[in-house]
Amino acid sequence: FNNKKVMVFGWARSGKAAAKCLTKIGAQVTVVNGGDFDNDDVYQTLRSAGVKFINHDDDRSLDQSFDFLVKNPGIDYQTDIVKKAQKLNIPILTEVAVALSLFNGRLIAVTGSNGKTTTTSLIRDMLESDGQQVTTAGNIGTPVSEVVENLTDEETLLLELSSFQLLGTPDIRPDIALITNIFANHLDYHGSRDNYVEAKFQITKNQTVDQTLVLNAEGKDTQNFITRTNAKVVEFSRKSSEFMVTVNADSLMIANHPVMPLTAIKLVGPHNLENIVAATTVAKLAGVHDSAIRQVLETFGGVAHRLQFVLSANQIKFYNDSKATDIEATQTALNSFDQPTIWLAGGLDRGDDLTRLVPNLTHVKVVIAFGETQQKIVEVARAANKPVITVTDVTQAVPVAVKLAEAGDIVLLSPAAASWDQYDNFEERGEAYVTEVKKVMGV
Ligand code: ADP
Repeated sequence: FNNKKVMVFGWARSGKAAAKCLTKIGAQVTVVNGGDFDNDDVYQTLRSAGVKFINHDDDRSLDQSFDFLVKNPGIDYQTDIVKKAQKLNIPILTEVAVALSLFNGRLIAVTGSNGKTTTTSLIRDMLESDGQQVTTAGNIGTPVSEVVENLTDEETLLLELSSFQLLGTPDIRPDIALITNIFANHLDYHGSRDNYVEAKFQITKNQTVDQTLVLNAEGKDTQNFITRTNAKVVEFSRKSSEFMVTVNADSLMIANHPVMPLTAIKLVGPHNLENIVAATTVAKLAGVHDSAIRQVLETFGGVAHRLQFVLSANQIKFYNDSKATDIEATQTALNSFDQPTIWLAGGLDRGDDLTRLVPNLTHVKVVIAFGETQQKIVEVARAANKPVITVTDVTQAVPVAVKLAEAGDIVLLSPAAASWDQYDNFEERGEAYVTEVKKVMGV
């Protein structure tokens, strides 16, 4: 990027980080943004370093003189500037591509339709628990450009990447790449299923035989990659005993040796067992000792708001799954328990057919409903012959749940709806739940 003319499109966190990084490398940077620029420190510093700022987002400002367009991964390829860049054959990149040009150490990259954040968090904790230096960035929250300037090549950079980010990172070549699974979602953005699958393939496209691709052995799309990649392929599955990391009825197994009993694993749910097998496979390839893996799995209670273990008191276990903003996520959560469950649900009404949840209520003993979808949840409960109580919101639901709970029960917040009818975001909703659980249980 040195001496290249680069347009950065979008002035959110990743745009700022990319502009800073590019300026440091010696690129001539122009930032384009639909709205006004905050007059903050980054803006001031970059302005005095010669960066140009343009506050309209039509395509006039982009011409043939630019070498690259760096865009926020959330910006659609149908936007005028992006379409014009395509027409002019200007490569369209994300901040990840900018940042990776500055890093030569070991790179581990994780993508997939589901389980990315959980798997990435597990891998990070396993490497750290083993005493390795690891920095985590990407889709998990921190732009890669923000962390890369402080990294040495002796460290491991661990990235969680969405297919949007991969599309704009054409040169990526991870030492270890992991694809957790591929389900046909996000099709609106990618246009077609094939495009979506190709975006995932991007993670391994430049890999050679010295690098490793870790793949889900279940699923046609991931299996098709085996013949296409040049990398060494290592597969994982929680259902098969053929692979390096597996589970049998009692234990997590590594290279045919039991490493720990499944009862000692804190994460719940078959989907999380799959995430554990995937993360453990990557950790072993990265040289992590079994003891470090065991230590993490005994204590890791889940990423915040994703079927996260909150606490256990009076033999009642509380879980926060506020991130479950759609039906599938709540089905996954309800299928993760075989103990009697008090289910707290409701939120923004997007017009979804919630009756699809009825078959998943087998272990539910009481439903507590709130929010815009309250009436729909009441109908789900009635269709499943379960008692249902209506309350205003999550905070009111907790004391009601606690009153009904008996030793051995699960209290689960898994709303099957977005939070915006009553909260700013799913994090705020989850925090309201956790705060109230701690208050009511006196913990
Ligand atoms: P991502 O980062 O890919 O969105 P997360 O780890 O944040 O994934 O998990 C989000 C939700 O996706 C979970 O609450 C669960 O409902 C679902 N999920 C997680 N892992 C898997 C998996 N391996 N298979 C299917 N669904 C999963």
